[in-house]
Amino acid sequence: MSSDAPERTNLLGLPRPALEAFVAQLGSRPFRARQLMNWIYKRGVGEPAGMTDLAKEFRARLAERAEVRLPEVVREQRSADGTVKWLLRADASQAFEMVFIPEPDRGTLCISSQVGCALDCSFCSTAQQGFNRNLSTAEIVGQVWLASTQLARETAAEAAPGAEPAERRVTNVVLMGMGEPLANFRNVVPALDILLDDFGFDLSRRRVTLSTSGLVPQIYKLAEVSNVALAVSLHAPDDALRNELVPINRKHPIAELLTACWHYLDEQNGRSVTFEYVMLEGVNDSPAQARALARLLKGHPAKVNLIPFNPFPGTRYARSSAPVIQRFRDELLQRGVLATVRRTRGEDIDAACGQLAGRVIDRTTVRLGSKVFGVAVQP
Ligand code: SAH
Repeated sequence: MSSDAPERTNLLGLPRPALEAFVAQLGSRPFRARQLMNWIYKRGVGEPAGMTDLAKEFRARLAERAEVRLPEVVREQRSADGTVKWLLRADASQAFEMVFIPEPDRGTLCISSQVGCALDCSFCSTAQQGFNRNLSTAEIVGQVWLASTQLARETAAEAAPGAEPAERRVTNVVLMGMGEPLANFRNVVPALDILLDDFGFDLSRRRVTLSTSGLVPQIYKLAEVSNVALAVSLHAPDDALRNELVPINRKHPIAELLTACWHYLDEQNGRSVTFEYVMLEGVNDSPAQARALARLLKGHPAKVNLIPFNPFPGTRYARSSAPVIQRFRDELLQRGVLATVRRTRGEDIDAACGQLAGRVIDRTTVRLGSKVFGVAVQP
């Protein structure tokens, strides 16, 4: 037996009930968990020694058994537009990315849920990397903690002179980084709990968005346990094209997916589902396709977010031109379907949608080339 101390529990992995149980195990009263969360999430203090209103003895026990352990930053890059991208270590040879996007009225943190992705969407750079592993709850929450505390330290004085005034706090979190969040259900849901908890990051449910490529059974399960905003990567108005762009569609076709979305809204009293639609020149961007999309969504609580395609090395796709995107949007608007065009941010540092690549050693390609169906989706 080694005499090494056992690994300390990472507090960022424990939503409130689990933290209460942990605190009780340490011989303290469960309500101390709230005080602890207050230090960690409200005040950004991760060292028990600094948690001055906790009994000294309890602090000592905490320091022995627990810690706030963050993913290590491998590299940080800043875009001319203020976007920040972090490359974070998953282990010796693997890394994942997160991106902060400052805007005048909000600061959005785009976080990852997996190292790589197994779903193999044909226009996504992350997909090309393959899949390595799920991130833990602590690694998901750790991204938000890391960005929040780092941004808080950067004073306004450090902002570039003449730069557009922008929110430098994390006010919104989107699970739109690397990975398919619903394929990592078991770790993602407790992370969402911590993001929303009054004693955690205390974000309102409308400021936390989970984006999925369309894992239908997991959308039903999510409706039972969470009420965050839902975004769905649709990208095509018919099954033949969607089968090609988003292969999970072969398992869960559009009609089934939309039924799951409306169910989610009913259960969660949600306002609308956002449908992401990447604009690929000559593939899915014709006026006829816009009309077909409008027919699918008309009369439902839906918003369409058109994403100009972001190219990456080796891709066979090109971005639709601005007038084509405008025309597509107008076709939707004329039919009463709300539609916006996503502004591309952080392009100069490869931080835009679909460009996150990290460093992934693929573990799935050996499986008979069937990435989508070969990878176990956690219950
Ligand atoms: N797996 C989830 C979460 C990723 S979100 C999902 O598919 O929803 C990232 C968003 O960016 C998705 O809507 C995705 O389809 C889109 N995207 C992927 N590659 C892109 C690219 N090259 N250009 C623009 N958007 C892209």
